[in-house]
Amino acid sequence: MLGEGILKGLGETAKNFVGSFVSKDRLTTVQYPEERIAPIENTRDFPFLVYDGPDDADGYDKLAGLRCVACQICEKECPPKCIYIVKSTDKKPDFVGKPQIYPARFDIDISVCMSCQICVEVCPFEAIKMDTEFELSTTDRFGGLLFDRDHLSRSNQHYHKIHPTEATEVDARLAEEKIKADAKAKAAAAAAAAKAASPVAAPPAVKPAPVKEPGA
Ligand code: SF4
Ligand code: SF4
Repeated sequence: MLGEGILKGLGETAKNFVGSFVSKDRLTTVQYPEERIAPIENTRDFPFLVYDGPDDADGYDKLAGLRCVACQICEKECPPKCIYIVKSTDKKPDFVGKPQIYPARFDIDISVCMSCQICVEVCPFEAIKMDTEFELSTTDRFGGLLFDRDHLSRSNQHYHKIHPTEATEVDARLAEEKIKADAKAKAAAAAAAAKAASPVAAPPAVKPAPVKEPGA
């Protein structure tokens, strides 16, 4: 019948419209901002840098636990090029205690970021993840949306709060890596101690040169 599809579509719309007044399942909106719906676990908007340490503790040096080693892979792979990194000239210990370079500067221009999550996927150090915070509107279109390293740094606890399943998996992976690194360091220390304790080999004996007889 001509127009059957249109009538079916209108019927579906009418059912949803009326249903939204009587069925709780169809009430998909809330009176924001007074009421809020908790974001689902896979929600994502803009990236943040993960640090291991207390959540929003005043005076805590977030840099000490920052996982980023300024490898700049994310900066190279970011499609709209909105990440800017400057490497440090010194080093600090990473999560396994190995001295590593860190980002002296790490900026993301949130006004350019398209939330593609490529930076997260390419990071080999589980150092950058996607946040769920969306109330970022500002009247300062440029400076207000250029987030620096301090602004971007959020604790691992925050990561657990917003993406618990993913964060637990990451923790397990990092713990495994730490066990392997500790075992490797222990084996290297034991080998060095064994080498130091072994006796020094005596130099080969020098044979005295034969004494020539006068007139021989
Ligand atoms: S989410 Fe995408 S656009 Fe945004 S910083 Fe990461 S790679 Fe760049
Ligand atoms: S966030 Fe990850 S990929 Fe980007 S510089 Fe830091 S360690 Fe490298």
